[in-house]
Amino acid sequence: MPRILKVDPWNPEEEFIEEGAALLRAGRLVAFPTETVYGLGANGLDGRAVGRIFSAKGRPGDNPLILHFSAPEEAEGAAILTERARCLMDLFWPGPLTLVLPVREGIPPEVTAGLSTVAVRMPSHPVALALLARTGLPVAAPSANSSGRPSPTDAASVASDLGDRVDLILDGGSSSVGVESTVLDLTGPDMILLRPGGCPVEEIEARTGERVLLAGGSTNRSPGTRYRHYAPLVPLLIAGDEGVRERVSAHRGRVGWIGMASPETFFAPGIVPDEYAIRFSNPENYARGLFSALRTLEASGARLIAAEWPEEKGIGRALRDRLYRASRE
Ligand code: AMP
Ligand code: MG
Repeated sequence: MPRILKVDPWNPEEEFIEEGAALLRAGRLVAFPTETVYGLGANGLDGRAVGRIFSAKGRPGDNPLILHFSAPEEAEGAAILTERARCLMDLFWPGPLTLVLPVREGIPPEVTAGLSTVAVRMPSHPVALALLARTGLPVAAPSANSSGRPSPTDAASVASDLGDRVDLILDGGSSSVGVESTVLDLTGPDMILLRPGGCPVEEIEARTGERVLLAGGSTNRSPGTRYRHYAPLVPLLIAGDEGVRERVSAHRGRVGWIGMASPETFFAPGIVPDEYAIRFSNPENYARGLFSALRTLEASGARLIAAEWPEEKGIGRALRDRLYRASRE
């Protein structure tokens, strides 16, 4: 078991934050809560430390990492900020919005996967902010799960995936957003959405008065979107897709459900037993609980999980992306 320290999320204990910061400065890995999901952090200026993230997660080396900062000015040391980047930082930082910008010299290629750009974000979780401020370094941090698994939204999920491949877990409770950050490419004339996430596109458009373009063939622009990801250990099926009713019927009584509607909107009574149905009152709660619901159901004895396909608006866009990629076989 890794060392786990319970930290007060609203008033993080200084000695715990210092322990995490000292480990990061020494090139070790520290998992910490952010408002999106738990991050697996390493000193973003130390290529060897960043390399440990890839081995701990089993992450493909061509998938670049996001650098995290405790203040917008600090991102300036890693990325070349444009007027538009500053405006977005003013509007949305701290928060679940990641910006891809031209990289400055001195950022190790392990962070950028050798690209000429770098992704930067300032999270809003008080424990993340305290740790970043105390460390005084850019911290590279992907989600703290084994590559391909559902992202962790609590400390127990981190411990179960990474074991002692992580040197310390700061346990600050459950992540409030529950899905990863929105990733915007700002390197060209238009804002391009590389990954939908916790910051809805509609909100970015409304507050900037500019359009966000969807990356057609985003697969080439953002390496991470190429991979199957977020997948539970049992198959995940989208309710309403072709053939799903038949597959689900064959596992009557052993089918898990996640969604806002009742499973009986899609399936006959008895297909999904009550104890396997996890329901959410709205899309925000669906996003908050999605990954932990996948982990709960895969451990429950369910043979299949069926999920409701939400509307493509607001946080629903991120939910669709995660469900789609988790369900690819
Ligand atoms: P993760 O840290 O696993 O949540 O993933 C970070 C996401 O940001 C992945 O989809 C990466 O491909 C993407 N990303 C990070 N850096 C860059 C970059 N320089 N250019 C494009 N996408 C990036
Ligand atoms: Mg991830």
